[in-house]
Amino acid sequence: MRHGRTELLYLDDSYLREFEAEVIDVRENGVILGATAFHPTGGGLVSDTGFIAHSRGVSRVSEARFVDEGVLHVLEGDLPEVREVVRGTLDWERRYRIMRMHTSLHALSAVVSRETGALVTGNQVRPDVSRVDFSLETLDRELIRRLVDRTNSLLAEGRPVRISWIPREEALKIPGITKLADRLPPELEVWRVVEIEGIDLQADGGPHVRNTAEIGRIEVVDFESKGRRNKRVYFTLSEPE
Ligand SMILES: [Zn+2]
Repeated sequence: MRHGRTELLYLDDSYLREFEAEVIDVRENGVILGATAFHPTGGGLVSDTGFIAHSRGVSRVSEARFVDEGVLHVLEGDLPEVREVVRGTLDWERRYRIMRMHTSLHALSAVVSRETGALVTGNQVRPDVSRVDFSLETLDRELIRRLVDRTNSLLAEGRPVRISWIPREEALKIPGITKLADRLPPELEVWRVVEIEGIDLQADGGPHVRNTAEIGRIEVVDFESKGRRNKRVYFTLSEPE
């Protein structure tokens, strides 16, 4: 699938860390490529970072951003020329943490909504500490512990995560398909659907791990009330054993 003139390679392969692409446009602060494995800022996820190697050297990608024309890669250093083919490399350690965080967020959200009826009203997925907001009136330490323990035991079972493309009409029949309200424009004919086997089924545009055994354990860092019906949980991940 494309955004503007950029083919979004990460939608089909979250594990792609290197790619070649043509420079379609050069802006003051970066380039638009014909294809990219960089996941841009959006859908509650922070941007990937990395490098682009080109005819004038290697420039750091400090952020990827959706713009009308495609995906803008903000560069530090020299800019390549229009129409040359460049090589992009992701900062994989960071991206892989983001993927693990992202899949764990889906699982936690599914467990919370199943057991409490709450919805996710906001989230920010980062490599270090992520946060998620639930439409809950009360959230105490004991309830969080129970929900997180439940999620962690499901993750530890090593559930496969599958990505498929489903016609909109069919996707809309799946209950809760848009509960995370990720960025999938409603006018799209075919939706990308991410399934964590037996846990969650969700329309989604971000990178995920292939199996929950890769994630490790969710560890709650902090939680706070952001309003009468809005409770925020900060969490990190331990490394899988
Ligand atoms: Zn998501």
